[in-house]
Amino acid sequence: MVKAIVGANWGDEGKGKITDMLAETSDVVIRFQGGANAGHTIINDYGRFALHILPSGIFYPHVTNIIGNGVALDVVKLVEELKSITDQGVPAPKLIISERAQLLMPYHVLQDSYEEERLGGKAFGSTKSGIAPFYSDKYAKIGIQVCDLFDEERLRDRLTRAVELKNVMFRHLYHKPALDVEALFQQLLECREMIRPYVGDAVTFVHEALAQGKTILLEGQLGSMKDPDLGIFPMTTSSHTLAGFGCVGAAVPPTAIKDVICVTKSYSSSVGSNTEPFVSEVTGEEGDELRRRGGDKGEFGATTGRPRRVGWFDAVATKYGCVVQGATQVALTCLDVLGYLDEIKVCVGYEIDGQVTDRFPTTPSLMRAKPVFETLPGWKSDVRGITDFEALPEQAKNYVKFLESHIGVPITIVSTGPKRHEIALRQP
Ligand code: GDP
Repeated sequence: MVKAIVGANWGDEGKGKITDMLAETSDVVIRFQGGANAGHTIINDYGRFALHILPSGIFYPHVTNIIGNGVALDVVKLVEELKSITDQGVPAPKLIISERAQLLMPYHVLQDSYEEERLGGKAFGSTKSGIAPFYSDKYAKIGIQVCDLFDEERLRDRLTRAVELKNVMFRHLYHKPALDVEALFQQLLECREMIRPYVGDAVTFVHEALAQGKTILLEGQLGSMKDPDLGIFPMTTSSHTLAGFGCVGAAVPPTAIKDVICVTKSYSSSVGSNTEPFVSEVTGEEGDELRRRGGDKGEFGATTGRPRRVGWFDAVATKYGCVVQGATQVALTCLDVLGYLDEIKVCVGYEIDGQVTDRFPTTPSLMRAKPVFETLPGWKSDVRGITDFEALPEQAKNYVKFLESHIGVPITIVSTGPKRHEIALRQP
């Protein structure tokens, strides 16, 4: 059976930790979308890791980790990441790279930066990892699949056609140097040798694993709000962040996904630019303090190092985020972070043009939404590392129950610290 671990919000909800934990009892972990443009922080017996492209199951020797066909594969980053984890003492992981995955090319990264430069003040705040150009090329059918690397004639032909188009854009729109097909071709052959031992038929592997009754985890990157269809378009990413896309990006049958674990933080954080709507944001000194205390080292992007915007828990966005993911249960992380507060606000509604609603709106209305808060008492104590839900202070338990009543999905996992075992399971 397949379980998906996905984000209910803007990303950075703590999915890496939950995946690392659930991987212990799984056989396969699959990344099914996105690329190396966001990070998952994992703290376990080997140390602290910021994974960007490797699946979070790599710390268990019994787990097969798959880079699914839906991923934007940056070979150089992947190889660097593999080296950095083995340098830190992690045994070489079992890894399969789907032969159907497509390659993130150096020109995708260039195009991303050129476009941000062109847009100037109107830029999207892209991480400049080439993700938007990569997915655009996939749907324009000029992307290059991993399998193409093993047919040199075909590879040269596909590359030549893609570069022809890029060069028109690079020279005439961005006024930048043209790309050299031959140099890129040679780079691709080097990439081929780097990944050769890992490339395989992930589709057959996954279907055989399912037939054998194995447990598969799908690991999502970012969260519901960043989905290009159901998120805060256009301030989204360019691949689908929803569990449902696992059927495509990991090639699992839709009917095999039995469990969708939606991860959300006990407060809000978003690494997006300041122009993005972020209704329950906390700014000023109050915000600085939450940012400093958040996560395991403050709320700063695992890939970009950018300070994340922070806010109170947004029940409107999270309820919607869980609905579009099809959540069967919720993992609530970072409860320990809020222990310093006398009172905690929760955003339970949006006021839009004088009307209060708990329905998550489309972007133009969202831009005008103001938060409607309810205030709950804090618990004023350190709950870090508590593993028994009942042992939490009454106010902390009530906070969790309050969030649950607003989200409408059972909160079954409560994380009380960044480390693997700092977690309380709960029967709602
Ligand atoms: P992901 O992209 O969803 O995997 O999330 P990130 O790893 O980017 O962000 C989550 C941050 O919160 C990381 O710094 C984690 O180490 C940290 N974290 C996860 N769970 C907890 C928790 O329960 N308490 C605290 N204090 N930090 C946590």
